Amino acid sequence: MSTQTLPTQAKSAREIISYDPATGEEIGRAPLSSLEDVRQAVSRGRKAQPAWSNFSFRQRARVILKARELMLAQRDEIAKLVSRETGKPVTEALSMEIVPTLDAMHYFAHAAENLLRPQKIDIGQYGMMGRSSSIRFKPLGVIGIISPWNFPLATPADEVVMALMAGNAVVLKPSELTPFIALKIGEIFSRAGLPEGLLEVLTGDGSTGAALIEARVDKIMFTGSVATGKRVAEAAARYLIPVVLELGGKDPMIVLEDADIENAARGAVWGAFANSGQACASVERCYVHESIAPKFIERVVAETETLRQGVGTETAVDIGSMTNERQLQIVEHHVSDAERRGARILTGGHRGENPEGFFYPPTVLTNVDHDMTIMRDETFGPVLPVMTFSTDDEAVKLANDSVYGLTASVWTKNIARGRRIAERIEAGTVMVNEVVYTHGIAQTPWGGVKDSGYGRTHGRMGLLELVTPQHIHVNRLSFLPDLWWFRYSPSAAKLFGGLATHFTTGSIIRTSRLLPQIVKRLFGLRK
Ligand code: NAD
Repeated sequence: MSTQTLPTQAKSAREIISYDPATGEEIGRAPLSSLEDVRQAVSRGRKAQPAWSNFSFRQRARVILKARELMLAQRDEIAKLVSRETGKPVTEALSMEIVPTLDAMHYFAHAAENLLRPQKIDIGQYGMMGRSSSIRFKPLGVIGIISPWNFPLATPADEVVMALMAGNAVVLKPSELTPFIALKIGEIFSRAGLPEGLLEVLTGDGSTGAALIEARVDKIMFTGSVATGKRVAEAAARYLIPVVLELGGKDPMIVLEDADIENAARGAVWGAFANSGQACASVERCYVHESIAPKFIERVVAETETLRQGVGTETAVDIGSMTNERQLQIVEHHVSDAERRGARILTGGHRGENPEGFFYPPTVLTNVDHDMTIMRDETFGPVLPVMTFSTDDEAVKLANDSVYGLTASVWTKNIARGRRIAERIEAGTVMVNEVVYTHGIAQTPWGGVKDSGYGRTHGRMGLLELVTPQHIHVNRLSFLPDLWWFRYSPSAAKLFGGLATHFTTGSIIRTSRLLPQIVKRLFGLRK
């Protein structure tokens, strides 16, 4: 039964259908926006953006905070919609999507002005020559956001907020699997009084995402798979459109012999199975010190077996269904490949009985190694493969043996040791005694290294992706020519040699030795 009507902006005859992955029920139909739709949206954004960028931070914040108020008031309805489009439990939609989004709205509404305040730059000895430099941060124009289905509220909404606070217009292209949550974001901002054209939500598939690049937005914030990220970067390069790529992960968790075993086991279970393991930062590989492995694995299995799987909109459910069948098949392939190569399935391991929903039980594997797909490719499902190690060096080597580098974690009671190991791991974020959740901290940068992408979102670094720094340089001594201007002469060459020796040391005392030559040249040039 369809519970959503066709949105009013639907002009296209083509449409996408959103289904509840836990029940197979149709949620509704949304337009498959064409290149022309995208061009018009970008053009509306271009018209609206200059006035918005002239708004003060306080005026922009007022709209964001009104949207926050509306989202908070509708939180239960929104959490249910998130649950219906993704299969995740309503409770998790609240904790992992709505709470961090409201927090990010509050943070950026209040902090953006300070984070983007113009800055003076210390230009050393040039400052003694009557010059000064400052940086101001200008909005880029129209930002294209392309987002995936796994956190369909938090991922795009946070970026919408940051882009708007920085003075940009936004065109958002959500995943074809979760169009209605994105339309809800658009509706909330519109009801909050955001002027028309500043947030356009264009539902559609990959062709709509590709059209955003053809429509020449000023920057693409892409979150999704490595394969699509590469296609996006390649297409954007044709027009030199800058791109932030938030891609996949194969995130390792290292449990040292001095870790709190109980808590590390609980952390591993939540980190691997929250959102049915469909988080870019999910724990996808666990390395435990051999001396504590039996106890740790026993705790992990026991904890896993207490989890209740079911339709996410029902109460008392820990794990919902996966969001789509293609992803479920990838999980089945990874587990069967591992099993064929000798892995032991300690719990789970086979698709559930429920034929309607895409349910896969939380699965724990041991006897795994790095020849197996499950330890190399992103599984993006509720599977936790566990391997043992005997030394810190070996653990670091195993963690770094991946093409990915999004997040990682180290578990130990010795914080200094945890930090030392964290610094050796190739990942954008490394947590000590924590997993997954730092995407939820609005203040800290989020992003990866290696195939996990480049650029950052969140925090000051994320905000800086949405502006262009403009350097303003002023020479107050407007009556004086510069030493290095024409004309050149043997005495000029001698002075430049002196500058190379003294000025470049940064020492005013050393440079002052050149003062007579400098004065002579300056007055010579004025003649
Ligand atoms: P995906 O790459 O299939 O799709 C992502 C988005 O790109 C969708 O909106 C899709 O319609 C669009 N798209 C597809 N083809 C396109 C094209 N040619 N041009 C422009 N846009 C195009 O990814 P997915 O399956 O939706 O999401 C899962 C992936 O996202 C996983 O790999 C996961 O790790 C990653 N992810 C990363 C982060 C992060 O912050 N690093 C966060 C969430 C998800």
